[in-house]
Amino acid sequence: METMLCNNLKKVEENICAACAKAGRDRKEVTLIAVSKTKPVDMLRTVYDQGIREFGENKVQEMCDKIDVLPQDIRWHMIGHLQTNKVKYIVGKTALIHSVDSLRLAQEIEKQAAKKNVKVSVLIEVNIAEEDSKFGIHKEEAIALVRQIAQLEHLQIEGLMTIAPFVENAEDNRLFFREIHQLSVDIKEQNIDNVHMDILSMGMTGDYMVAIEEGATMVRVGTGIFGERNYNK
Ligand SMILES: *Cc1c(COP(=O)(O)O)cnc(C)c1O
Repeated sequence: METMLCNNLKKVEENICAACAKAGRDRKEVTLIAVSKTKPVDMLRTVYDQGIREFGENKVQEMCDKIDVLPQDIRWHMIGHLQTNKVKYIVGKTALIHSVDSLRLAQEIEKQAAKKNVKVSVLIEVNIAEEDSKFGIHKEEAIALVRQIAQLEHLQIEGLMTIAPFVENAEDNRLFFREIHQLSVDIKEQNIDNVHMDILSMGMTGDYMVAIEEGATMVRVGTGIFGERNYNK
């Protein structure tokens, strides 16, 4: 298992470097998030030992269980849909919540963050291809929602996140990545107080190289590092 993980990581790192080089970007502009959902903690430990400190999970309970047993210097990313009744379990534990897609959810994060007196960094999730199966707001709603969430004292908007369609050919997602990049530029130009647009979380195993070419600053890679997920265990 160790050899498999090390080889996969090496390959992903090479691909990130190649995509950065192609786009004329510095490797340091892109953060690799190892998406470890469904994977056992010993696999995360091996990846940690290779120097990875950013891990992504999509379920609150699973993330909390892993936080309890893994090193404290890991930066945890909540990348899955977040129910308001679960917010209280993760506020104060995440480096970044990628999946804020409603004012109601943001208000609950605000409430829990105020209780704990912490500031919570978030991304706004945009359903850029407008797929019915996906969470996230439509592009047209983004600026209005950002303006509302910006008023919440204990939230810090750091940028945007999107989950592009599942495609055979990564090139098919290039225009979506370009579109969300442009949206983040448009929002940044509005100079809204309390809003940064420095993070663009986009690109997964099938398309992270194209995402980097189009401006991703965070890529979320699961299968490419840990191998296929088995959901029927
Ligand atoms: C599972 C997941 C990923 C990683 O997907 P892979 O195709 O395995 O790289 C990335 N982002 C989100 C939001 C996910 O749920």
